[in-house]
Amino acid sequence: MAGRKIGILALQGAFVEHEAALLKCGVCPSEVRTSRELDNVEGLIIPGGESTTIGKLMQAYNLLEPIRKRSREGMPIWGTCAGMILLAREIVGMEQIISLNLMDIAVRRNAYGRQLESFETELQVEGINHCRGVFIRAPFVERVWGNTQVLSTYQDKIVMVKENNLLATAFHPELTDDPSIHQYFLEMLK
Ligand code: GLN
Repeated sequence: MAGRKIGILALQGAFVEHEAALLKCGVCPSEVRTSRELDNVEGLIIPGGESTTIGKLMQAYNLLEPIRKRSREGMPIWGTCAGMILLAREIVGMEQIISLNLMDIAVRRNAYGRQLESFETELQVEGINHCRGVFIRAPFVERVWGNTQVLSTYQDKIVMVKENNLLATAFHPELTDDPSIHQYFLEMLK
């Protein structure tokens, strides 16, 4: 995969950690803040952070429509945590935010409540076996429809989904030293 250009949306949140994880997989990451930078990548990671803030910044930087267009053209996009919220077509139990509206999932923000604001656990993932994931004020998926496949659940809640070229995880693999989800995403570029 060396030589493939993977973009990381670098407006707010945990983008540096994704860069480090991609470097460990032998891939050169590329920060995306403009539509011209988006034109130069073959895949995009939308990091965790604050989904309301990232949504507003995507609008301010005129990135919403260009990202939607690349998605329609089939570019692989992976959203982690806030990135999952930004991909969802529906956000339940809270006001709608500025988002990409791309994936046939309904997500609940900050869904684990106060006791479980953050935790790390082992997850069973379809097609990978298992991986480690860190959850930080994480959402979970309440409902999927259309072509969306459920790849992982944790305590009966859906935490990883895939719909064609789109991947979303409620957790942060980039905060562990387990590269398996990054490798899974890189496989989607082939
Ligand atoms: N709670 C955040 C939100 O609603 C997401 C947290 C995260 O990305 N770690 O956007």
